[in-house]
Amino acid sequence: MPKKLEAAHLKGVCEACKAGRDALLDGNGSVNAIADALVILEDDETFDAGVGSFLNSVGDVELDAGIMTGDSGDFACCGAVSRLRNPILACKKLLEIAPNRLLVCEGMHKFAEENGFELIDNDELKISREIERYKNKSAPVEKYFLPSDTVGAVALDEYGQIAAANTTGGTPGKLPGRVGDSPIVGCGIYAGPNAGIAATGYGEPIIKTVLCKCVYDEYSKCKDIDLATNHGIGILSLYGWGGVIALDKEGNSAARHNTTKMPFARWDEKNNKIEKKISNPL
Ligand code: ASP
Repeated sequence: MPKKLEAAHLKGVCEACKAGRDALLDGNGSVNAIADALVILEDDETFDAGVGSFLNSVGDVELDAGIMTGDSGDFACCGAVSRLRNPILACKKLLEIAPNRLLVCEGMHKFAEENGFELIDNDELKISREIERYKNKSAPVEKYFLPSDTVGAVALDEYGQIAAANTTGGTPGKLPGRVGDSPIVGCGIYAGPNAGIAATGYGEPIIKTVLCKCVYDEYSKCKDIDLATNHGIGILSLYGWGGVIALDKEGNSAARHNTTKMPFARWDEKNNKIEKKISNPL
């Protein structure tokens, strides 16, 4: 990530963290906290989620998102949606009321519309930066693959419930209909009674690693969230690039990545401080 993009990313993750903290302090629970946090990042054009997402190979935005709760193991996810401004909110609705758990494309649009979400024109999700990037796609890979990745959030609430979620525009130039790791339980998100984890990075290697479940299982053995995330990223490194944020049931958190940077923020409840970092060197 070029230095000039760092400030906007750190500002975004801090704002999101504050929104999550406020929801927790208001007693709204972990699912609402992570949804509130992620709406901020979907609406922030800095990030590859909601408005400002990367365009796919035909110049459209297609979004994936998902939420999972640790106590029941329930999840609600969507893939390749092109007409929702805040897919994370539609996923929250799906979690609350639907008998099915993963909807894609028109099925998710229909569910969302029937439940009061506005269906927007895909152009409303496109910004000039991404249109330019799309037009320039024959430029060298480093230019084309500028960052602004998937955003994720994990929270533990006063009722002891852990929840994890993420939301993304996926990878730039992806094929239409491609669904990445983000809405796939165990890959881009996982939450169980012991911990919650959310991932970012190239979806196909993350799916191959079953990254978030890999971190969860390691945590269940070693009871050290930092070691567990390190283990998961070690395995991911065999296949590709990415990172995870994780939180255990005691409130210990970790952030690990094998990229040079991965902006993140966390609320240190004891000292009532929001800590932000651009990277967490291994
Ligand atoms: N994991 C996302 C995907 O492959 C992309 C990202 O994290 O930036 O769809």
